[in-house]
Amino acid sequence: MNLMIIDSHVHIGEWDYEYYYKINNSVSDTNKVLDASKIDAAVAMPSDKMENESLLEELKNKGMGKYWFFPWVRPEMKGVMEFLEKNASQIAGIKMHGGLTRTPVNDEKYSAFLKVAEQNEMPVLCHAGRWQEMSSYKHTFELAQKYTGVKFIIAHQGGDDPKLKVESARELAKLGLENVWFDTSATREFWTIKMGVQALGAERFLFGSDYPVMHPKMSIEALRAAEIGRDAEEKILWKNAEFVLKGRPRVKG
Ligand SMILES: [Zn+2]
Repeated sequence: MNLMIIDSHVHIGEWDYEYYYKINNSVSDTNKVLDASKIDAAVAMPSDKMENESLLEELKNKGMGKYWFFPWVRPEMKGVMEFLEKNASQIAGIKMHGGLTRTPVNDEKYSAFLKVAEQNEMPVLCHAGRWQEMSSYKHTFELAQKYTGVKFIIAHQGGDDPKLKVESARELAKLGLENVWFDTSATREFWTIKMGVQALGAERFLFGSDYPVMHPKMSIEALRAAEIGRDAEEKILWKNAEFVLKGRPRVKG
């Protein structure tokens, strides 16, 4: 039994993407899933509809202090800078996704968000996928070298592909950047967790599910199946997340 589990990657809301049809989880639904999975707290972000305002309201009313809120930001989003400013005390970090916005996160258009993150000591979660022009983990490495005071979390262990998951960890070890972590969300290839830990050390991985894309129970079992030892498992399940989110507020009612 573990003392605590933090899920570093949870989505709440209704998805726009055609093939996620009708996937729509409320904060209350998500509370139940976290309880059933023995998860104590989670990083919450909206679905691809990016409805930050309504999710923040729902988290205030129903979140029971369990959630760090990461609004999903993209360039040219109406009122987003005002939203970040106005709600700075309830926002723990920000989420960026190159592929969905057709703008890689290292593009100048994202720099206003990175400055907000830098000023407020907010961690930045960047999606990483197979589409290398738009969603490469390398874009985030570049940002980490430029914004050395910002903690970056790269989603899905660097991409939805075992080669990306392992090579990104090896590359980060070579670069020696101190301000980058990977989340294990939506990782089916459980052995890549072990390969990543061997390359980079357990300190740099955060447990995440990507719920509702993957149920947290599946993600916890994937981590256990990797057989990395209890110490490493505990770091990944909560200790590293606690470090990355240190001093960041959870949403309060
Ligand atoms: Zn996600």
